[in-house]
Amino acid sequence: MRVPRVALINLGCRVNRVETDLIAKQLEDAGCSLVDPEQADAIVVNTCAVTGEAQAKTRKAVRHAANLPQEPTVIATGCVAVLFASELTELGSNVVVERDKSTVSRRVLDVLGSKDALRLDKTACAASSTPTPTGRTRPGIKVQDGCDYRCSYCIVWKARGPSTSVPANEVLRSVVESVERGAHEVVLTGINLGRWRSQGDDGLPAGTRLDGLLRHLLERTSIDRIRISSIEPPDVDTSLLRLMGSANGRIAPFLHICLQSGCDQTLSRMRRPYNTDLFRRVVEEARSTVPHVAIGTDVIVGFPGETDEEFAQSISFCKAMSFARMHVFRYSRRPGTEAALAKNQIDARTMAVRASLMRDMATESRLSCAQGLDGCRDHVLVQYAGKAVNGQLFDVGVDAGIPVGSWVDVTQSWRGDRLVGEPLRATRA
Ligand code: SF4
Repeated sequence: MRVPRVALINLGCRVNRVETDLIAKQLEDAGCSLVDPEQADAIVVNTCAVTGEAQAKTRKAVRHAANLPQEPTVIATGCVAVLFASELTELGSNVVVERDKSTVSRRVLDVLGSKDALRLDKTACAASSTPTPTGRTRPGIKVQDGCDYRCSYCIVWKARGPSTSVPANEVLRSVVESVERGAHEVVLTGINLGRWRSQGDDGLPAGTRLDGLLRHLLERTSIDRIRISSIEPPDVDTSLLRLMGSANGRIAPFLHICLQSGCDQTLSRMRRPYNTDLFRRVVEEARSTVPHVAIGTDVIVGFPGETDEEFAQSISFCKAMSFARMHVFRYSRRPGTEAALAKNQIDARTMAVRASLMRDMATESRLSCAQGLDGCRDHVLVQYAGKAVNGQLFDVGVDAGIPVGSWVDVTQSWRGDRLVGEPLRATRA
């Protein structure tokens, strides 16, 4: 009996990435073979609705998959599937929508119509040898989902529902499994990560926050490094920073703290729960508490009502923060959001100009942060031949002979346009 062949297409955020990896693992464990879309009997598309552009990319991916010559069944899941299902099913009679990600792999087995045979063929496909079935060296671990905030431009909370926390004992098991599969670093991720809370039935006292979870993982696993993905400014508190500063490099010295705008008037129209003064104080405390910490952020330009003066405030605030990494987004009008109803929408040309100015500033800021690491020692993880990633999420050039997935101690030096790492001592694969 031929082994069923499934392809997975992931769009959007880190949480989507982790969910797609989990579906891949379930299908692999059920005996499916993970292939490219052109060879697949079924294709899973994990969709994204965060911006109009992301939604257009989703439609394009689903349409392309549905029109492949072998006419695979396309199972669409994710935020577009939850919010705009008909937009996907109208793309082809072989497109089905599965809103609940926890039942996607079951749906795939059903549409392939041979789950009994699959179980029989369980031994057919050896499990993959990389930390994730899809070959990631730094697997993501989803610890939180949903959101209770109501940012005026955002559609995500409608798709993902209220904030929920993955029990600490399940997170612990995922980290242990990742270590067993050879991971040196894991990335904790969530839609509003800092809202993670123990419910008291998972080995931690009820109400325990993210720093408590991190301490729990550091004490009970041998993972070399844990990285925190995006987090909201109010959740970057003293106890989290002190833990990061005292973890001997086992928590990556990097914080992606979502700013969205460097202007208080714009932040208030965005319904963001902080102002620039709080943000500045969080960054200053992080820099005084966590050695060599690098700060990344997300910024939206062209939010409705953003005057030239407000934009000038935003870009000068971002410059003053010396971000090591900035994701610059043009405001995207999302149906059903408060901001979409706002009168003074900004024209596309102005948005493009502001995005370009903000990105140019971000590039300069990133270069100067990288230069600041000249002479610093670090553990770097080799992600590709000759390229590693350091604690601050900068690429570091290393000897191409060092195996991918290796953990190397280096001294970093700035070579004009990039960081290069001279190994201090032998690698640990
Ligand atoms: S924090 Fe705001 S932008 Fe982020 S998911 Fe929640 S509502 Fe959306």
